Amino acid sequence: MTKGAEGVGLLRSEFVFLGRTKAPTEDDQAEVYTDISNALKPGQPLVIRTLDVGGDKPLPYLPIPAEENPFLGERGIRIGLDRPEILRDQSRAILRAAQGGAKMHVMFPMIATIEDFRFAKQIFEEERVKLGVDPIPVGIMVEVPSVAVCADAFAAEVDFFSVGTNDLTQYTLAMDRGHPKLAPQVDGLNPAVLGLIAMAVKAAHKHGRWVGVCGGIGSDPQAVPLLVGLGVDELSVSIPAIPAVKAQIRKLSKAQCEELAEKALRAASAADVRALVPVDEN
Ligand code: PEP
Ligand code: MG
Repeated sequence: MTKGAEGVGLLRSEFVFLGRTKAPTEDDQAEVYTDISNALKPGQPLVIRTLDVGGDKPLPYLPIPAEENPFLGERGIRIGLDRPEILRDQSRAILRAAQGGAKMHVMFPMIATIEDFRFAKQIFEEERVKLGVDPIPVGIMVEVPSVAVCADAFAAEVDFFSVGTNDLTQYTLAMDRGHPKLAPQVDGLNPAVLGLIAMAVKAAHKHGRWVGVCGGIGSDPQAVPLLVGLGVDELSVSIPAIPAVKAQIRKLSKAQCEELAEKALRAASAADVRALVPVDEN
């Protein structure tokens, strides 16, 4: 792997499903996931997110009735729970690809309730038992505020959290992440979003779980010291940003980051948070 990445923190598995006229089979998927796993060094983490499409990202072979609020409708894990055969096929493909190469992890997108997680995990586990393979870590995306608020209950049952700050920000601020006018305000450094991340980290660590950030702010140089200060354990970074983020982290002091994060949590606005972390001119 080039650019210094030490694994894959978020594999958006949608790419296997898009641009087709029918769903990829279990074998199609297993082949793709295995190729990716083999491209990593043995033992490096590979976190595959199960299919995250929905009303806003339609698939021709997956008809979803038009919805008034697609971002609040059938998307993410809700599709897999409604049509479990899709989640079952994908679970088997992931588990088959987990039998060598990278250290496979799976996570479910758009989890909102503990029942969502339990049902998805049950399907995954049933397929694992049928295949007769060893367990792999099963985590969830923290991208709906309800999960961060009730993080303690989730952390007791999941193996890890991965904070999807793109959606967590849009759902916390009730602002469409792609809205042309609102976009400048949809800032993951809003203290409300940072507060939710802090809650997730605290609960996860209490239960001995790790927390990653896989949304866009993981690649934002102003966010990196704050995420380190909040105790985030892993960053999933866009490929071009990896060298700069690694270089930045090497220069940071944990104590200073923690102090900064404390201040950010008490700030009144995203602009105030950004003012705490001047952009490095070098
Ligand atoms: C997120 O919501 O932050 C995330 C990583 O998922 P996506 O951007 O694919 O919705
Ligand atoms: Mg998301």
